[in-house]
Amino acid sequence: MARGDPDRTFDVVIVGGGIVGAMIAREISRYLVKTALLEKEMDVAGGSTKANSAIIHAGFDPEPGTLKASLNVKGAALYPGIAGELGVEYTQSGSLVVAIGEEEAPVLEVLLERGKRNGVAALEIVGKDRLFRMEPGLSRAAVAALFAPSAGIICPFRLAIAAAENAVCNGVRLFRDCAVTGVVLEGSRVKGVETTRGFFACDYVVNAAGVHADEVARSAGDDSISIRPRRGQYHVLDKAHAGLVTRVVFPVPTKVSKGIVVTPTIDGNVLIGPTAEDIDDKEDTTTTEAGLADVVTGAARLVPGVVDALPPITQYSGLRAVEKSGDFVVAASPVVSGLVNAAGIQSPGLSAAPAIAEMVLEILREQGLKTPPNPGFNPERKTRRRFAVSSDAERDIAASARADCGHIVCRCESVTRAEVVDALRGPLGAVTLDGVKRRTRAGMGRCQGGFCTPRIIPIVAAELGVRPEDLLKNEPGSRLLGGATKAAGARDGGSEA
Ligand SMILES: Cc1cc2nc3c(=O)[nH]c(=O)nc-3n(C[C@H](O)[C@H](O)[C@H](O)COP(=O)(O)OP(=O)(O)OC[C@H]3O[C@@H](n4cnc5c(N)ncnc54)[C@H](O)[C@@H]3O)c2cc1C
Repeated sequence: MARGDPDRTFDVVIVGGGIVGAMIAREISRYLVKTALLEKEMDVAGGSTKANSAIIHAGFDPEPGTLKASLNVKGAALYPGIAGELGVEYTQSGSLVVAIGEEEAPVLEVLLERGKRNGVAALEIVGKDRLFRMEPGLSRAAVAALFAPSAGIICPFRLAIAAAENAVCNGVRLFRDCAVTGVVLEGSRVKGVETTRGFFACDYVVNAAGVHADEVARSAGDDSISIRPRRGQYHVLDKAHAGLVTRVVFPVPTKVSKGIVVTPTIDGNVLIGPTAEDIDDKEDTTTTEAGLADVVTGAARLVPGVVDALPPITQYSGLRAVEKSGDFVVAASPVVSGLVNAAGIQSPGLSAAPAIAEMVLEILREQGLKTPPNPGFNPERKTRRRFAVSSDAERDIAASARADCGHIVCRCESVTRAEVVDALRGPLGAVTLDGVKRRTRAGMGRCQGGFCTPRIIPIVAAELGVRPEDLLKNEPGSRLLGGATKAAGARDGGSEA
């Protein structure tokens, strides 16, 4: 192990707290390996992980022989178990790739064969009659579809937060608001990382920095990775339109993306999108009028009823980290010993993340990392069933034990005061309003926080010990209410877990 301040000395440093870094951290925490997870933002799951289609893909889309294909299929198979262990809702909804018009139908055969070669189970092509029974809202121009029963839907940021929290509970140390500015070498071997919070010594660096992974690798002298962002924009439709589809509905794919999807979300909304726009700015998650119009056109081609479900309750966009090879890069650096890259993790990276984590661990072992089992490892995350999905009986029991379990603060999403408080107190407590929102869904409903934000601010401020006017939305300086002094507080970023 590298020497130095024992509090800043680790076997492994993971750069980036997205779903990939969080799953890797959890996987490593099965072993007695001193590990730090460093995230530049004030919370985990703020990159691509918070803004995608939230689909666990079955795995028929990637080209056979690619890492995307093998890790997608392997990862998807791990999801039912992992979601159960982490207490994150997951539904195996199945997916349909729908051919609109006879001319698209041959593509389904190609995807079916590809899926079989990738090892996807139970794929079948369904004809018109069954298709319309399965999804009555589909366009009458639909002629057939590829049905993949193993596809699913999940909340990607609740999942990543849960995985990181479970890793922390099993001994990983998480540092937020801690950007890695460079990998430090001794000769051609990793010695540590320089960060905005000082130096961390380590023997191994796992680079899971999303769209910035090429920059992290380059800082170590590894030029092998080149990433360009590909933006995808979405509309989120109100829960009143939840009946539009019951499964993930794809068009036939294009060369660069799986096309504009109409999908139910795990929380009961309908999501339509994404676009696929190659851009240069790695921070540009704006939405555009043209992009959002394309989303509606694409979605309405599959499910005409989406037009009547507008306006959406909100819109967003996310950035795919597209590597020049077009595939995932999950490999030891070709030039730096001790550096392992998990880069270019574009779609289906959410689906593949648990399998990427297993692969990274294997590579670390090949690089010499010792992994004695962690006898205290507990895969189960302690959670309480969310009020919104609890039965009346469960709600009564919870409220009789603790009064604020029956006190609703967010009406649209049925979030209780107790859930807000717990989101701030847990092993990976939120330190911003967005952090609370992503843990609880308060503010994610039809009114987009119009009702609950003023009710939640005093709760959050009191819990964090800051003045309401110093409370941050998501990043340093993002005060919600303005105010004269810089936001401060016991847990104003830079915090460990
Ligand atoms: C439009 C779109 C749709 C998608 N749909 C799906 C889908 O339906 N199913 C699916 O399987 N996949 C999907 N994906 C892909 C999936 O979202 C990604 O593969 C996945 O989120 C990548 O996770 P990550 O952890 O690699 O990256 P990120 O989530 O971006 O995490 C990287 C983290 O690293 C941090 N970081 C960066 N630089 C530094 C630094 N120097 N120091 C410290 N921290 C740093 C960032 O702040 C960030 O939190 C989609 C992606 C997009 C954009």
